[in-house]
Amino acid sequence: MEHVTRVGHVETSTASSPVIRIVHISDTHLSHNSLTPPRPLSGNISIQRSDSTETPNNVVDESGKDAFTKRSTSLESREDGFHKGGTFLSSVRKPRINNCEIPCGNVLVHSGDFDWSKQSGGFLRSDNFEEIVQLMNDFFDRFPHKVKIFVAGNHEISLDGKKLLTVQERLTSAVYLYNSSFTYEGINFYGAPYTPFRFITNARGFIRTSGKIASHWRDIPSKTDILVTHSPPYGILDLGTKWTTRKLPRLTNAWHAVLPDRECDICGASHPGRDHWGCPHLREEVLIRIKPTLHLFGHVHECNGVTTRKGITFSNAAYANAKRPRVFDYYLPS
Ligand SMILES: [Zn+2]
Ligand SMILES: [Zn+2]
Repeated sequence: MEHVTRVGHVETSTASSPVIRIVHISDTHLSHNSLTPPRPLSGNISIQRSDSTETPNNVVDESGKDAFTKRSTSLESREDGFHKGGTFLSSVRKPRINNCEIPCGNVLVHSGDFDWSKQSGGFLRSDNFEEIVQLMNDFFDRFPHKVKIFVAGNHEISLDGKKLLTVQERLTSAVYLYNSSFTYEGINFYGAPYTPFRFITNARGFIRTSGKIASHWRDIPSKTDILVTHSPPYGILDLGTKWTTRKLPRLTNAWHAVLPDRECDICGASHPGRDHWGCPHLREEVLIRIKPTLHLFGHVHECNGVTTRKGITFSNAAYANAKRPRVFDYYLPS
């Protein structure tokens, strides 16, 4: 069974207050056909609390039957090599093409990079808009979750510049969050697609310079419970492989073999060949002002994982290197 992280009013909720299951995926990069819907196909599920923190809460369908889907334990072993102390080279391997079942839940969130378009913007702007939104719509349509939420990423080049309504009219099977919010069962979601400018990148959809991106983050309402962005906040599940490491792995390995490991000024860890890709402005807004219960993102394929800082739970569910959806039980207040 997959690990389910409990968030929200866990300590203070009573037996009668509902629990909402959130399933998070990101960075599927056109391998969405390898994601299969959970059984049963009904979206009418409810979460039955387990008394112990050791045992996950149970999912029951409308007939009261146990609807929890047994999942392949191989997902557990698909963790990125970095977390297991492997070298950075293990992070650049190609994703496997075997299937991955998306767990059942009330809400399914995709935090961007559904597409794999690589043009750099400007006159090379990709024009697959109709085609890609149709693919997205068919994808979300296959899943039984009551609410499906999509926020774009930097590979959604053809969505950059399109109005929210233009996308939403076509994406009828999901809620498209574009600097906008959505409320479900009293939980306030807010989504924004931006990632900070990096000189070396092969996809420049929704990439903004420092000043512009900071103003977008300032627009996020303080009462947001679940924030969905494509970019991680700086220093949190954001260690990406450096361009030099990717292109010249042997040289980089040799270089690091002769140089002593240095601790990073930002995170205190030693991570040769990798650097922080997250957004410093986003970090500031999230940790100091917004303080959401849950912050969902992707973008950095090497850092699929869940972590907690200052009482906020952060989830990077990038699927490209680690086929591991992240699952949360959100406890509503009593
Ligand atoms: Zn660091
Ligand atoms: Zn990305």
